[in-house]
Amino acid sequence: MKSISLQTELLLKLEQNHRLSRPEWLLLLTHPSKELSNEVFSRARRLRDRIYGKKIYLRGLIEFTNICQNNCYYCGIRSGNPKVERYRLLPKEILACCRTGRDLGFRTFVLQGGEDPFYTDEILTDLIHKIKQEFPDCAVTLSIGEKSKESYQAYFDAGADRYLLRHETATKEHYQLLHPKELSYENRIRCLFDLKEIGYQTGCGFMVGSPGQNTEHLAEEFLFLQRIQPDMIGIGPFIPHHETPFAKEVKGSVEQTLFLLGLIRLMIPDVLLPATTALGTLHTRGRELGILAGANVLMPNLSPVNNRKQYELYDNKICTGEESAECISCLAQRLHSIGHEISYERGDRIKAL
Ligand code: SAH
Repeated sequence: MKSISLQTELLLKLEQNHRLSRPEWLLLLTHPSKELSNEVFSRARRLRDRIYGKKIYLRGLIEFTNICQNNCYYCGIRSGNPKVERYRLLPKEILACCRTGRDLGFRTFVLQGGEDPFYTDEILTDLIHKIKQEFPDCAVTLSIGEKSKESYQAYFDAGADRYLLRHETATKEHYQLLHPKELSYENRIRCLFDLKEIGYQTGCGFMVGSPGQNTEHLAEEFLFLQRIQPDMIGIGPFIPHHETPFAKEVKGSVEQTLFLLGLIRLMIPDVLLPATTALGTLHTRGRELGILAGANVLMPNLSPVNNRKQYELYDNKICTGEESAECISCLAQRLHSIGHEISYERGDRIKAL
């Protein structure tokens, strides 16, 4: 009982100061009870509603290539998976996805892909120019991995507004456990600092329950987020993919993901926080539960239906068979069922502090 009330005190402290020390994070993150989680969720909802109301922002996700030069141990489209049928969309096909998206009311396009050297800086900057020219009221978010600062600057100058680059874990040793030796923790973090410095609305994030992750690692996540103060934070449960070295690892937990979403909202009240597809994959109402835990963003798939199955980062990914329009009406209904609604605004961060 004693530790429950101590944890509740820490929640109040977090809500007031927006930061905790390492020992405090460790205590808060260790064996949270159902009551504590519910307390986190109701406080998180209240904070979120005060800033963003009941409107949930949409981001149209265009998975434009599943070709990747990297070989991350967790990821289904890793270069070492020979069973993936590889594809890449041409710039004109990407533009067609944006057109479909704009017609459906999307005002953000997220271009995500593997690290595919086919898309040179020249191709990408030209594409970004074209998207911004045709859809001047829309935001362009890139999620294309680690690049040089010069490349990031070139995309920004071409008009890109936001960049998503999950750091995956804030602990160097843990990073090395999840990635082959060619990839370095230092470079990943360098990228995030470069992106922030250039002026992107920057998103980082991590997988919940990735192999080897423990409470100390989670405490590090929060200390890291406190330090870098991102505009967006993407977290979702780790889900094994059958053709990766982590095929037999245990998946992340929905409950823990929800608890962490709520804590993130308390820590950075105005952050843009998606209820991810991975969460929706592990639980039929995962995305709704994510919103009820404090999330305020959804990222429906805008990729061509033909390619969706091929962008399989993990097993049983949802929404790979529906047309984008079906996804929207499905989400609208799901949101309605929990007293929320879709926002068709661009959905930039509302700075509240
Ligand atoms: N190449 C880009 C995009 C990566 S895919 C980049 O490097 O940023 C987007 C995110 O999917 C990854 O950052 C990772 O956190 C998540 N992901 C990959 N494999 C996953 C898995 N097996 N389970 C859950 N999430 C996964």
